[in-house]
Amino acid sequence: MLSRSLPLESTYLGHTFWQRWPISAKRGNGWVDFQGFTRSLGVSDLTSLNLELFDRKCPICETGNAVEFAPANFDLSRLDAFAFASRKRPEFMHFRLVECKTCDVLYANPAPGHDALLKAYEGASFNTSNESEYAAKTYCNYLKRYLSDMPDRDGALDIGTGDGAFLEQLLAASFENVAGVEPSAAPVQVAKPHIRAHIRLGPFRASDYASEEFRVVSCFQTIEHVHDPLQLCRDALRIIKPGGAFFIVCHNRRALLARVLGPKSPIFDIEHIQIFSPASVQALLKTAGFQRVEVQPIVNCYPMSYWANLLPVPSRVKDVLSRVLTSTRAGKLTLAAPVGNLAAIAFR
Ligand SMILES: [Zn+2]
Repeated sequence: MLSRSLPLESTYLGHTFWQRWPISAKRGNGWVDFQGFTRSLGVSDLTSLNLELFDRKCPICETGNAVEFAPANFDLSRLDAFAFASRKRPEFMHFRLVECKTCDVLYANPAPGHDALLKAYEGASFNTSNESEYAAKTYCNYLKRYLSDMPDRDGALDIGTGDGAFLEQLLAASFENVAGVEPSAAPVQVAKPHIRAHIRLGPFRASDYASEEFRVVSCFQTIEHVHDPLQLCRDALRIIKPGGAFFIVCHNRRALLARVLGPKSPIFDIEHIQIFSPASVQALLKTAGFQRVEVQPIVNCYPMSYWANLLPVPSRVKDVLSRVLTSTRAGKLTLAAPVGNLAAIAFR
């Protein structure tokens, strides 16, 4: 496999990805306490790792039948510890993106390798407990439409569970043997103690689970981030019981909002190694071996302060908006909107 080392290019300012990575997290202002997390990320860990970019085939059909969609657009010096966090403020930076003409997925090519991505997520920050709860409720309502199709509610695994907000919803929906797995330490540290007990800190590894162990496996806003999404789906298939389901939520690049915002859409992001559409998520799940796949748009419900963070306006404007919204009742009002996410439920 060909590889390119980032620091050789003048645009990368001669720095490796990691040398520019701040290791101290923000304190105060409602951010979570990262004491344990900063200790676990030593300076030597960061600087010893060079970010290499590798040439890549389509992560679904494994062909090279692709055309350039957008050239690389990133300045590594502007990334911080939140670059690989969930529901962060978008930086509008991304790797070079190509569009597969066979299966409609957009993917980063070249892209970082598996190990570098894992390292990035280990240290990613987290400040979205409030929003993760809103998202979890929305997703659980979608899942509930399919529960009558399932023989029982025994066994559920949430991959990339963050602070475990969805685990709480599963328990409330009478699921038993509920588990989550999350590679980043920061969200697990802020999980509610009775939920944290269900979370395994580390990357998802199929070998950690028995075949046909779970009725439902879920994976929200995570499939875009992983190095090999097809392998993740094949692994999910193996650990799902016959008649069980794999439930994915991801961005839809064909959604109206993404098309209207174009390159200013927050879905074009440095942490998204691939971006799906209804057709490509179907292709992904069918290629992995799932039988019945249903894809539908998601209507997300979030407080106004969250929506304000996504606006394609300068950071200064967002700071002012954010202060106004969090200090008034307006910030707590919720707004439901179809912002270009899709739900895919695939049955084994
Ligand atoms: Zn393809």
